[in-house]
Order: sequence, then C-alpha cells, then structure tokens
Amino acid sequence: MHEKNILITGGMGFIGSNFIRLMLEQYPGNEYVNFDKLTYAGNPDNLKDIENQDNYQFVKGDICDNNIVDSVMKNTDIVVHFAAESHVDRSIDGANEFIQTNVFGTNILLHSALKYNVEKFIMISTDEVYGDIPPGSLSKETDRLIPRNPYAASKAGAELLAYSYYETHGLPVIITRSSNNYGQYQFPEKLIPLFITNLLQGKKVPLYGTGLNIRDWIHVEDNCRAIARVLQEGRSGEVYNIGGDNERSNIDITNALLFALGKDDSMIEYVEDRKGHDRRYGMDSSKIKGDLGWKPEIDFSEGINKTIEWYIENPEWWRKLKKQN
Ligand code: NAD
Repeated sequence: MHEKNILITGGMGFIGSNFIRLMLEQYPGNEYVNFDKLTYAGNPDNLKDIENQDNYQFVKGDICDNNIVDSVMKNTDIVVHFAAESHVDRSIDGANEFIQTNVFGTNILLHSALKYNVEKFIMISTDEVYGDIPPGSLSKETDRLIPRNPYAASKAGAELLAYSYYETHGLPVIITRSSNNYGQYQFPEKLIPLFITNLLQGKKVPLYGTGLNIRDWIHVEDNCRAIARVLQEGRSGEVYNIGGDNERSNIDITNALLFALGKDDSMIEYVEDRKGHDRRYGMDSSKIKGDLGWKPEIDFSEGINKTIEWYIENPEWWRKLKKQN
C-alpha cells in the first residue's frame, strides 16, 4: 500500500485498537490518526505500547462534533469507522446514546468525508443487522436487514446511511459485517471476557436463559486482517460478511471456559433471558473469501486459549475496568 493518511474512529476500543496495532505492524508506511471520545469502552491503555510512534497520533473527540471531525478529516485519505456504542444490553436499558453516536455521529463523519473527498470510507457494521437466523440458513450480503434490538437497529441505520452516501453522492463507501469477535482487550462486559474474568475472581458466570443462543465467533485478529484486505482491495458500494465459520451456543462457550479454567458447572448462574434475544446468527462469508482471498486462520481452541492466557497475564488491565463500571 502507498503511504496514506488513515483516520480510525473508535481506535481505543476492542477491535479498533487491535486493528491499529495490526496496521502499524504490517503497513508502517501509512500515517494513522486514532479519533476516539474515550467513553467507558475506550481505554488508552490498549495502545500504551505504541503511543509514541512517529506515524501514530491520538486525538480525543466525539464523532458527533462537526468542527473537530472536520479538523481531523481535512488530511484524511481513508476512514475506518469503528466508533460506536456497542453493547446490546445497554441499548435495551436506553437507546438514546446509540442513536446519537451510531446514527447521528456516522452522518457527521460521512458528511465531512464527502466535503474533504476521502478516497475510501470503511463502515464497520455487524451481523446483528440481519436479525434472528433460522437453523440451517446463513445470511448473505443481499439479505433483508431485520435488526431486533436497538443496538442492531442503530447499526443498520448507520450502514444504510453510509450506503446512501455512496448512491447519492458517490462517496466510496464499503461496509463490513462481522460476526461476534473475541480476543485480547475486549471490555469485560461482553460474554467471553466477563466470564473469564469472573471465573478468575472466583465469581459465578451469569448465563442468559437456557444458554442455547448461537453466535458465530471470530478471533479479533482474523476480523482485523479481513478489514485490512477490504481497505486494500474491497470495491466501493459493496458489503462484505466476515464470519468465523465457528458457530457455538453460549452454553458451549461457557463449558469450554469452565473446563479451561478448571471449574465446574456449579459456577453457572442462569439469569433471566435478555429481552428480544436473537437465537442465532450465522453468516455466509464466501464473498470475501472468493473476491478478496481472505479466510479465518485462528482456530477456536487456539484463539480461546490465547485469550484466556491474555486475561490471566493482564489482571491490572481488566480489574480497573471492572471496578469502575
Ligand atoms: P467498543 O465498545 O470496544 O469500542 C468502541 C469505541 O468507540 C470506544 O473506544 C469508544 O470510546 C469509542 N466511541 C464511542 N462513542 C464515540 C463517539 N461518539 N465519538 C468517538 N468515539 C466514540 O466496540 P468494539 O467491540 O471494538 O466494536 C467496534 C465496532 O465494531 C463497532 O462499530 C461495533 O458495532 C462493531 N462490531 C463489533 C463486534 C464485536 O463482536 N465486538 C462485532 C461486529 C461489529
């Protein structure tokens, strides 16, 4: 890749920080600006080790703030837009911030990207926009979007808005929809890091309903490699599903974590199911495999062991976050 100025929104979060680290390692010729509001989910510790690199800069700001967005967009060639409110449970408690950041904030970014003629705008979306998927079928990029919780609806709104900028204004937008990510630096409110850290603290793990909900799990590094491929070779106006080919029920995940950490099922506390809890997500990722030559490389047992080890080795990272929230 030739030298580019790349603006990453939400780069202090889970996937964004992993993405910045991967890009700095693999494409050191670019300049990277990480633009993040530092909400409860944004953590400067995620990138402490690289904060002084010459080709990396952090700017604290809100994507809903026109002026500051314009000031960072001015010199940008490519936008990779991760910034979002991302936790479904919080969106069920109250959706205002989800609409504000995920929809309104995305519009501010798109408008500014258009104004400054950016070459590419990668909109990071999610498989949750497809809604509940019956057993035996897989979502394709052309399927209808039927989001069933406020978080998913706000992401569907954001990506449809992004697509409209492509159709209306010719802004070179590309949309990625990934499945559930897991790995290092994930905030300990999401299932896998919450359960690992609870078990390390000797606490029970709260499992929703019967635990039979199914998700397709992808290691965050596989998703970041896919986004890097899309950034280089993806076609404007296209959507790419990024799945792990790794469907597992929540109870299976829980049992794998209990086993790996030497605990038994007495550590499970069944709790009332999440409202509107989608039973299954499952995606067909053949488009990105065929068109861009990407495939997931990290096997689940390897990925989950690596993740558990990371949380064991970094208690100061997650203990602080668990106390604050
Ligand atoms: P995260 O919650 O860990 O990080 C979100 C980041 O965005 C934080 O650093 C936060 O400070 C920042 N942010 C929030 N509001 C902002 C605002 N108004 N202005 C600037 N920055 C703001 O989220 P994540 O898990 O890393 O997810 C990143 C993206 O990927 C999101 O768009 C999410 O919808 C999408 N996604 C996540 C998953 C997953 O499994 N985690 C799966 C598919 C898609």
